[in-house]
Amino acid sequence: MPRDPVCGVNLTEKTAKYKITHDGETYYFCSVKCKKKFKRNRDKFTK
Ligand SMILES: [Zn+2]
Repeated sequence: MPRDPVCGVNLTEKTAKYKITHDGETYYFCSVKCKKKFKRNRDKFTK
């Protein structure tokens, strides 16, 4: 099950509407807000 790396929420395929592929890995987000936050601070969330 994917997890939102920004807010730490566990997602399902239905709630993981937002995703980014970064360094060959796909990250899922609960909202566009979390997606934007991730984009601004990738290094913090990809470790
Ligand atoms: Zn989130």
